[in-house]
Amino acid sequence: MKIYEIRVRRALTPSGLPEYHYALNPYVGCLHGCLYCYAQDYTRGPPGAAWGQILYVKANLLEVLRREAAQLKPGVVGLSTVTDPYQPPEAKYRLARGSIEILAEAGFHISVQTKSPLVLRDLDLLRRYRESVDVGITITAMGDKALELEPAAPHPTARARAAARLAEEGVKVWIYLGPVVPGYNDSRQDIAEVVKLAASIGAELIYDRYRPKPRAHARLPPAYRQEAGRQWWTQVKKTIEELCREAGARCLDVEEEWRARRDLPQKPG
Ligand code: SF4
Repeated sequence: MKIYEIRVRRALTPSGLPEYHYALNPYVGCLHGCLYCYAQDYTRGPPGAAWGQILYVKANLLEVLRREAAQLKPGVVGLSTVTDPYQPPEAKYRLARGSIEILAEAGFHISVQTKSPLVLRDLDLLRRYRESVDVGITITAMGDKALELEPAAPHPTARARAAARLAEEGVKVWIYLGPVVPGYNDSRQDIAEVVKLAASIGAELIYDRYRPKPRAHARLPPAYRQEAGRQWWTQVKKTIEELCREAGARCLDVEEEWRARRDLPQKPG
C-alpha cells in the first residue's frame, strides 16, 4: 500500500449528483478497496489502476477550502462523493474533520457517507453542528459475508454500532444499502437484516442497484457477475419496499430520488 501527498488548487467542485450542490473529496483512491466500487472505473492514474493499494492525500485541502468557503454561496456538500472520507489515513490527516468544521461554520450543509466507525472520532463536531450535517453509513450485507467484496473495509457490525451511536447522539443518520449486487446481497434474508438495523435506530434506508462498470465488474467473483436487468431489479425493489413497510422503516430508491430532483434547481440559492 502506498500513500502520496499531493497539492490541489480546488477543494469544492460542482456535484454531478442531484442531491448535492458541491462535491468534496479529500482523498483520491480508497484503501477500503471494495471489489464492486465504481470509483475505480472513474479514477485516473495509479489510484484507479491499483484500486485499494494507492492513495493520494490532498495535503493542502483545508487551506484551499477555507478560502473557497468564504467566497462561495453555501449549499449542500457531499463528503465524499467518490471515495470514503474516513478511510484509515483520515486518523492522521484529519481532512474530513477539518472540512466539516470549516463548512459548517460557513453555513454549508455537509452530507457524509462512509463505511467507517472512525466517523465517531468526530462525534463532538457532528453533535455541535447537528443541524448542518447528516451521516450515511453504507452496509451492503451484515455479517462476514461483506468481507468477500469489501475486504479492507471495517466489519459491518462495527458500522452498525457506529450508526446506532450516531442516532443515539441525535445526529441525523441514514443507512445506504448499495449497491445491491445479484447473488451477493439480493436475498430476502440479506436485505431483511439491513432493513431491521435501519428500523431499529430510526434511520432512513437509501438503496440502489448495481450497475456494471468494466474494471469493477471484472474484479467481482464469477458467481456475482450475473445479469442485473430490469426484471431482477423490479423484484428486488419490491422485496426491499415490502420489508421496509413490515419493519416500519422509511426507505428510498436513490434512482427515484434522482428522477424526482431532476427538475429542481441544482445550484445553491
Ligand atoms: S468504501 Fe466506498 S469508495 Fe471506498 S472502495 Fe468501498 S465503495 Fe469504493
